[in-house]
Amino acid sequence: MDRIEDAALVVEEGRIAWMGRRADLPVAWADAERVDGGGAWATPGFVDPHTHLVFGGDRSGEFNRRLHGVSYAQIAAEGGGIRETVRATRAATVAELVEAAEGRLEELRSRGVVHLEAKTGYGLDLEAESRQLEAYAALKAKGWNLDVTLLPAHDIPTEFAGDAERYAALVATEWLPELVRRFPGLARYGDVFIEKGVFTVEQGRRIFLAGKALGLTPRVHADELSWTGGAELAAELGGASADHLMFCSDSGMKAMAATGVTPILLPGTTLFLGMRDWAPARKMIEAGCAVALASDFNPGSCPCLDPLLILRLGCLQLRMTFEEAFTAMTLHAARSLGQPDLGHLQVGARAEVLLWDLKDPLELVYWVGGSFLPRRMNVTS
Ligand SMILES: [Zn+2]
Repeated sequence: MDRIEDAALVVEEGRIAWMGRRADLPVAWADAERVDGGGAWATPGFVDPHTHLVFGGDRSGEFNRRLHGVSYAQIAAEGGGIRETVRATRAATVAELVEAAEGRLEELRSRGVVHLEAKTGYGLDLEAESRQLEAYAALKAKGWNLDVTLLPAHDIPTEFAGDAERYAALVATEWLPELVRRFPGLARYGDVFIEKGVFTVEQGRRIFLAGKALGLTPRVHADELSWTGGAELAAELGGASADHLMFCSDSGMKAMAATGVTPILLPGTTLFLGMRDWAPARKMIEAGCAVALASDFNPGSCPCLDPLLILRLGCLQLRMTFEEAFTAMTLHAARSLGQPDLGHLQVGARAEVLLWDLKDPLELVYWVGGSFLPRRMNVTS
């Protein structure tokens, strides 16, 4: 993470054409239209590489019950938890899903997020998963910058209770091909929640391989509540990322480092669930991994649209340096999404520039409750 004091940055056709000390600005651009940054710090915009953006309803009622001492297991046994979101998502129209998601996207944008990954996974039947994709297609058509991930294997729907094997086979052989046929080119990634009591590594491998044959690169919900070998599977399959990883093994870290899988850590979820097992970010960095951070924005375990909270948790709980955490939310996040021209400010990068009115970017973490909002650099041409 380099710093340039008293800098100038030239934008041409939405991309950075030059950057350096203002005194060194080439004469070719001496007459260019100028935007005064007012002494702010310019940084790349945040990229959020793991969200569950589109869903119906919310789970504030369940959250309140948890505050009153009811366990998640009890809530789930009564048909609540993720099933409540599945019911609300199945009942929602595409227009309702789009409207709710757009409010969330506006909030994220105001806080400096310029691009995000977003998953399906609250339909858990073909038509409801398809409606989530329809919502993502509509949001992209409105100009929102999204990378879409197919996640029908987010949970085992009630209709398939006790038969994960049959559900995994159906997703692999029928739903993924049909969803890709209905929305060609929309989804770039496939995801599976590999966890004890949900999907096994073997079931995950089957779904991921079916997705890869359709052009969907794996991103894996891995090693969140227990070690299951999800990170190792992501490495084996040439995945883009393994996400959560609170219980990742040493060999999983080595495998990710060796194969270029991005570990994406989601500390907002650990916080919101009141867990104590923070992902071992330091060990992953020492193992040679390019760690990324994400919000995991979702209605059950992390209803958080604040990138600064994630940045702060990266520093304060995952013990990353400020530079590591900021890089994790920009450069490494963008790379995990195959977006090489986002997440950094260098010649050729897209000019998604945030302006922070601070003496030093470190203040974003240091003033720990501060509600800093970036300005966007508005360039007319
Ligand atoms: Zn997730």
